[in-house]
Amino acid sequence: MRYNIDFDVAAMVLAITTLVHFLTKKSIKNFQTKLFFGMLWISLVSDVMDIITVLVAETSVQGWVVYLVNILYLLSFNILPFLYYLYILSMVQNPNQWKLGRKIFAWMPICVVCTLILTTPWTKWIFYNDAETGYTHGQGMIVLYIIAFWYIFLALLFSMRYRARMTFGQRSSVYYYSIAVLCGIVLQVLFPKVLLLQFATALALLLVYLALENPKDYENKELGIYNRNGFIKLVSASVEKNERFSILGIRFNGYQSVRENLGVENSQQFMKQIVDYLAENIAPLELCWLAEGTFAVYTNEKTGKLDNVIRFIQEQFNSAIKFHGIDIIVSASLFQLDYPYDVQSLEDLLDTIDYETEHVQRKENGVVVRAGKDILLKLRRENHIQQLMKMALVENVFEVYYQPIYSVEKKQFHSAEALIRLRDEELGFISPEEFIPMAEKNGMIFEIGEFVFRNVCQMMSKMRLWELGIDFIEVNLSPVQCMEEGLHRKLMHIMDEYQLPYHCINLEITETAAASTEETLRHNINPLLEKGVTFSLDDYGTGYSNISNVITYPFYIIKLDKSMVWSALEDSKAMKALKHTIAMIKELNFHIVAEGVETLEQATLLGGLGCDYLQGYYFSKPVPEEQFLNMLRNRES
Ligand code: C2E
Ligand code: CA
Ligand code: CA
Repeated sequence: MRYNIDFDVAAMVLAITTLVHFLTKKSIKNFQTKLFFGMLWISLVSDVMDIITVLVAETSVQGWVVYLVNILYLLSFNILPFLYYLYILSMVQNPNQWKLGRKIFAWMPICVVCTLILTTPWTKWIFYNDAETGYTHGQGMIVLYIIAFWYIFLALLFSMRYRARMTFGQRSSVYYYSIAVLCGIVLQVLFPKVLLLQFATALALLLVYLALENPKDYENKELGIYNRNGFIKLVSASVEKNERFSILGIRFNGYQSVRENLGVENSQQFMKQIVDYLAENIAPLELCWLAEGTFAVYTNEKTGKLDNVIRFIQEQFNSAIKFHGIDIIVSASLFQLDYPYDVQSLEDLLDTIDYETEHVQRKENGVVVRAGKDILLKLRRENHIQQLMKMALVENVFEVYYQPIYSVEKKQFHSAEALIRLRDEELGFISPEEFIPMAEKNGMIFEIGEFVFRNVCQMMSKMRLWELGIDFIEVNLSPVQCMEEGLHRKLMHIMDEYQLPYHCINLEITETAAASTEETLRHNINPLLEKGVTFSLDDYGTGYSNISNVITYPFYIIKLDKSMVWSALEDSKAMKALKHTIAMIKELNFHIVAEGVETLEQATLLGGLGCDYLQGYYFSKPVPEEQFLNMLRNRES
């Protein structure tokens, strides 16, 4: 009986090609990659051994040689499915950190396989070799097949269970490998003379290589340095080993304007020039690309400290850089992070870096910011609040408080501002100043805004507040809400639902909304105005107010921000500014609410200067609905 080894030879060529490509490219060797590397080597060994077993069978050699080569072949070939199983697991877990039970579960079958193979010269259970029949499979061979299937099956099962935590490439490579090996086994059974299995394995490994281990996936092609994936792999390799390392985040601040002024192509060239220069001067420390204009220098104990790099960057990026004869000034914002001092896990590390990448640009040029625990605390708090908001919407935990507004003319409360409240068992009272911006970012502001508006309409209509002397309730609209197409329809629909007269609502918007969403805002404002809804400009005097823009909007009220009110009593210049501001607003025929009135002195002063309405702790803090209603009822009686 003669075996055809052509496919074995082809498999060898394939395995060697993959191995050479892998070895000649710069790659990051984390646990997973090392496993893959092991699989490549062992597949090559098993392939060579397969060829040798065939050659040995054709020549008359001593019995122990036959045993030796076959044992080596079977060992190497049967270890592969086990390594493959570990490889898949290591995509989402660190097998080094497994508990004992899991380790036994994973290792037991392969230990059985090795024992069976190694003891076969005595047991003759896997194969035997005698003068008459030559090399012959024993009854135990089936166990090896079953265990090989078992590992591949487990890997498949695992990849299905953790599909959400794997990337598309990772999942596909599990399927490639399994299908290729299973096809190989079926073909091997159909054509026992042609040794196909090795070829199927080599092909499967090549597919995995292309999908997952290709060093090109870790490289930013334009810049020739590691990209974000490469960076993650680099740091995860260190985290796995529990090795100390440091990261220096670099954000080039002028990048956006360089791009606008030079165009995409030139700005890329310019970046390449900077990156080449930087990478060359900081070697052997590793420079990685994280996001547009953002880089990270990675260093561990072997490559050295960051001090020199920091000094180099501070010196180099303080003066202009020449590019095509033009002087370009690019400043760099820096943040530093040490593992395990500042963060203790890969996830925390990446979260902190992402946070810093977004926020660090506001810091001074060249000053290194230490990124660490306080950011993680901030992120955790943010996550907690996000969850809380989600829950609060479902379970109706948000509350609406009311802060009455005093009319100087009527000498009583004539309106009130609705203010949202969120309380948490763990964090206590959370300020809307903290959670509203988060809700604006994640889009929950639409639901929250609707919740407040609905509550106000329902309460006002049910209690017929106008009969208690309340002309309208002021409801805050976030700039994000103002951008929503069709907001006016939604609001009118809710007012209709509760049969609330339209003039009972006053909407507060800020100048930011007016400036950034002008067209949509006007589309939303006009239909509401026609029906009788009025508008207030909130936070007037906080910096961005531009009176020539303000007068183009049909505001009924301008609300002076509390900061303006407060500083007037501390500073004579601020007092002058306040007086003139009030006079000017009055002249333009707007009504004025002064916010943050905390003392009688402030109240008298502001009333004297011509403010129509006053709001602040001096009159009342924001209070729950029931308390607000009681206040109004007591006044009547
Ligand atoms: P804002 O619209 O400027 O609201 C006035 C803030 O000043 C309220 O803070 C109020 O409690 C506080 N305040 C009023 N009088 C005084 C005073 O005499 N002294 C002091 N120290 N503070 C006073 P609050 O309720 O924490 O709200 C903060 C911000 O959150 C609001 O500023 C508003 O921008 C936003 N916000 C609150 N509720 C809502 C809402 O339902 N929707 C939207 N989009 N934003 C809201
Ligand atoms: Ca307001
Ligand atoms: Ca305000």
